[in-house]
Amino acid sequence: MGQSEEFPLCNLGSESFLYIFRDCIKVKDMWLSNHASFFSDSDWLEWLYINLISVEHVVKYQWRLIFGVMLDLVWWRRNGFVFNNNIIDNRQLGEKAMAYGFCCSH
Ligand SMILES: [Zn+2]
Repeated sequence: MGQSEEFPLCNLGSESFLYIFRDCIKVKDMWLSNHASFFSDSDWLEWLYINLISVEHVVKYQWRLIFGVMLDLVWWRRNGFVFNNNIIDNRQLGEKAMAYGFCCSH
């Protein structure tokens, strides 16, 4: 994944980790609807770390679990588009996240 290649889901920004997982408008909308306060100037590893050690809860779920699942879903969607030309919108992504159930956190 080169820094200079464009993210194929939008063709608007370079395909860096932070772009794919956080800053692309297609992803940003999803994060905003779940957790609004984590956009910052942190780099990729800092951002991962901060969120993965978080002890916050969103509704009844641990944020770090939601965060991990969302990363996985974003990557899954990206690969679905790149390799199979599947287009999955944020609503479908949210439904899939709920289907995971966050079952073990309550
Ligand atoms: Zn984008």
